[in-house]
Amino acid sequence: MKDIKGIIVTENASLKNLNTYKLESKAKYFIQVETLDGLINVLKYLKENKIKCFILGAGSNIIIDEYFDGAVIKLYGLKNIKVDQEQITCEAGVMMGALACTSVEHNLTGLEWAINIPGTVGGSIVGNAGAYNKDIFDSLVSIKVLDESLNVKELKKEEIKHTYRHTELKEKPWIVLEATFKLEKGNKEESLKLIEDRKIRRRATQPLDMPSAGSVFRNPENDHAGRLIEAAGLKGKKIGGAMVSLKHANFIVNTGTATSNDIKNLIKLVHTQVKEKFNVDLVLEQEIIDWK
Ligand SMILES: Cc1cc2nc3c(=O)[nH]c(=O)nc-3n(C[C@H](O)[C@H](O)[C@H](O)COP(=O)(O)OP(=O)(O)OC[C@H]3O[C@@H](n4cnc5c(N)ncnc54)[C@H](O)[C@@H]3O)c2cc1C
Repeated sequence: MKDIKGIIVTENASLKNLNTYKLESKAKYFIQVETLDGLINVLKYLKENKIKCFILGAGSNIIIDEYFDGAVIKLYGLKNIKVDQEQITCEAGVMMGALACTSVEHNLTGLEWAINIPGTVGGSIVGNAGAYNKDIFDSLVSIKVLDESLNVKELKKEEIKHTYRHTELKEKPWIVLEATFKLEKGNKEESLKLIEDRKIRRRATQPLDMPSAGSVFRNPENDHAGRLIEAAGLKGKKIGGAMVSLKHANFIVNTGTATSNDIKNLIKLVHTQVKEKFNVDLVLEQEIIDWK
């Protein structure tokens, strides 16, 4: 695998700094992709050698186990952004914050909400990330994916089934390579003001000083998961090193020694108690990655 051009391979690599829960985890192979050809060639190699693979974005929406006997692939090099009037095309490895900053720099409005999402464009499309009643599909025009036969195909937004914090891409073996967005002409000063206000609000309401993966559960219709969890008396509830945040009840934080089992068990406990007390079936927003 080391002879394949356009990738960097590390064996027995730590993933601790590649997931925002900071869970101790290792992968047999960690592959940093620098070019599309590199990605295609390494996927061929992995298939031929029956090595499982997992596409990692910024690891900000996942709960990972201690060891993956396969290859974790990160699209490090796919970071181009191109602005053409009100249209922005960017590669999947671009961080949402960088995309939002680029749009504002070009006096475009519509993606300000994305500034504080610590994820990549690829991961955010797959999970339909959003905030403040907006989501990434609002301004999306189309995406390019690498399909299971390693062909690049373009999909218009209308061809992708998506709902609140979910898309059918979660169930497909495709890799998002690129996305095109259509924005509106805006005012840079107004956008920067909006961004600053929201930053202040987030710092005041979210435990940004502790490792987490954002909201644990999706908000049920006309309610907030955080409100229900807090009303169930679960703020500060701990299992091992995982704790329901004291600042925002829909966040679980790693107090330093959390394992993926601590987090999964705490999620189960919260789910059961909210169901018992309020008869609400909370749906998980974070993704438990099954590496078995
Ligand atoms: C402090 C904090 C605040 C947050 N606030 C928000 C918020 O306001 N709104 C919100 O929606 N989310 C929020 N999140 C959650 C998270 O940042 C988003 O869900 C983000 O979109 C995940 O992107 P990622 O690149 O980290 O994906 P990852 O967590 O790395 O991956 C998620 C899934 O996408 C898949 N994937 C990743 N890249 C690709 C690709 N190129 N092609 C195919 N599959 C891919 C992975 O295999 C995995 O299944 C927050 C998280 C944190 C830690």
